[in-house]
Amino acid sequence: MAPRKLAAGNWKMNGTTASLAEVDALTAPEGCGVLICPPATLIAAMAAQVQGGVMVGGQDCHAKASGAHTGDISAAQLKDAGASHVILGHSERRADHGETDAQVAAKAGAAHGMGLTAIICVGETDAQRDAGETLDVIARQLAGSVPEGASAGNTVIAYEPVWAIGSGRTPTAEQIAEVHALMRERLSARFEDGADMTLLYGGSVKASNAREIFAIAHVNGALVGGASLKAADFAPIVAALAAA
Ligand code: PEP
Repeated sequence: MAPRKLAAGNWKMNGTTASLAEVDALTAPEGCGVLICPPATLIAAMAAQVQGGVMVGGQDCHAKASGAHTGDISAAQLKDAGASHVILGHSERRADHGETDAQVAAKAGAAHGMGLTAIICVGETDAQRDAGETLDVIARQLAGSVPEGASAGNTVIAYEPVWAIGSGRTPTAEQIAEVHALMRERLSARFEDGADMTLLYGGSVKASNAREIFAIAHVNGALVGGASLKAADFAPIVAALAAA
């Protein structure tokens, strides 16, 4: 089995019911997964609206199955609403909510328990890259955030340099290749089917740079923020991935 291609959109805290029309123009090409992760308020409606194999996911879940956790959402609730995936450990959640690697791993375990695919995000800050710590940071986040029980069937890893998210700046192809090679090596050493896990790049991906990024070894797709909000921006990225 080869890693499955995936183009995943992260709408973050953007979108209301009026935005649902954007998914009408999206379909998943043969051999290429297409996923939109809208705000939790839109998951059920979007799941009912998507066609052509497009999937819907959440942007976070709690590690516990239920209980007194006001404002949180469980993996079971995501599943019930029609989600197949959940983004976990996004750098905005690590920064805004102080999420640790251990918490991300626990959330991923909960997602796996409900049959959801966890998209686990890792990435260095500007300061960490400048200090030459990038590979150490990625290795540490991978070791701590990916739980036992992860497999190519239930886990996707997204390398998202914090400084590249929403900034219009992207790493060089060499920088992306170096991190993806490290991730592939570490995942293959730890998991039986680590060689088959889907590895995404995320951070200012757009139609104009997608082809170059998808040509990099071990890049099996993208996690896309801003350019996933409009089908007109996202569809060309999907097409570039399908052609890669
Ligand atoms: C993201 O938030 O996951 C992301 C990659 O954002 P953007 O594409 O806007 O940089």
